[in-house]
Amino acid sequence: MDLFKVMAKEGHEQLVVSTDPETGLRAIIAIHSTLLGPSLGGCRFWFYKTFDEAAADALRLSRAMTYKAAICGLNLGGGKAVISARPEEKTPALLRAFGRAVDSLAGLYFTAEDVGMTLSDLDVIREVTRYATGIPEDRGGSGDPSVMTARGVLHGMRRCLIEVFGSDSFRGRTVAVQGLGKVGRHLVELLHREEADLIVSDLDASRVRDVTSKMEAKVLPPSRIPAAACDIFAPCAMGGVLNSVVIPKLRCRIVAGSANNQLAMAEGARRLQKRGILYAPDYVINAGGLINIACEMEGYRKDRAEERVAGITENLARVFARAKEEKITPLEAADRLAEERLAKARADRSPV
Ligand code: NAD
Repeated sequence: MDLFKVMAKEGHEQLVVSTDPETGLRAIIAIHSTLLGPSLGGCRFWFYKTFDEAAADALRLSRAMTYKAAICGLNLGGGKAVISARPEEKTPALLRAFGRAVDSLAGLYFTAEDVGMTLSDLDVIREVTRYATGIPEDRGGSGDPSVMTARGVLHGMRRCLIEVFGSDSFRGRTVAVQGLGKVGRHLVELLHREEADLIVSDLDASRVRDVTSKMEAKVLPPSRIPAAACDIFAPCAMGGVLNSVVIPKLRCRIVAGSANNQLAMAEGARRLQKRGILYAPDYVINAGGLINIACEMEGYRKDRAEERVAGITENLARVFARAKEEKITPLEAADRLAEERLAKARADRSPV
């Protein structure tokens, strides 16, 4: 990979490679943009086969964070870190070595939880740096972000229901939830309270049992959930689920879920539109966790965080209105809105 070329094309500011032979740390911190404020994004703990794979993931994810913060009106930039290691290699010493790398950036990058990381891992990282978010709720922090992510998805779904059916009521609507992990589990609870009819699926049978023991839900095997007949399909598992095989099989009117990078290819947004399916761009609807963390950085107040997460409804309304106005997809509309905010910040910046 020609890093100079890739980074220049997408407008990345920095890529920091950090190793520590003593602890085995192999980490990459990608800072896409600090135009709107310090970059923020989770740290993914994942084993990557090659450096290129790890760098590509960090670069792609950090750019998405810039867009997510921009469209939510947050004064934050986009960053992301990856630690390439196997789960058994995770030690406090390695996490502290990563924390020192974060600290060396002196606040240009704030880290947070992501795949493979827990709030207790962040506690260890915080021993050596103050640039780590996700303080547990009982210590006055914002706690587990997935609760607010799920709430944000619910708010976003309401906006989608208005667009498609003219009412934001979930009663009599069927929602198919793919993935009952941290976000999906909270989401089905919220949907159940709204009296939605549920279809659920997870690779992990115990997660499915946990849901069906507490509420009524139809269960489908993972291979069949994307083609479930429903009003809303909610991808809450892995990215790339909306690919050229799945899109023609969808039997929903709305796709609205928490998963990052739901579209395997950007052109998928146009295919969905052609099929008359409303797509809520993932980085707009799944921003609840980020908004929650942004609130922690200002001094956490749950009521204020909830109010701001509810703003996802308004953000999506702007996206859908712009898409209609310019006859483009919601994804293109979201990108334009985010890019306009970034362009304004660039123009306002004093000349160098
Ligand atoms: P998680 O790992 O806790 O849960 C994912 C669940 O999906 C697991 O239970 C897994 O078994 C299941 N799964 C995986 N593949 C599946 C498949 N093919 N069919 C059915 N189930 C499948 O993750 P999470 O924190 O709940 O996040 C879910 C998605 O939302 C991810 O894409 C994540 O990047 C995104 N996201 C999460 C947050 C957050 O606050 N946690 C914020 C923004 C975006």
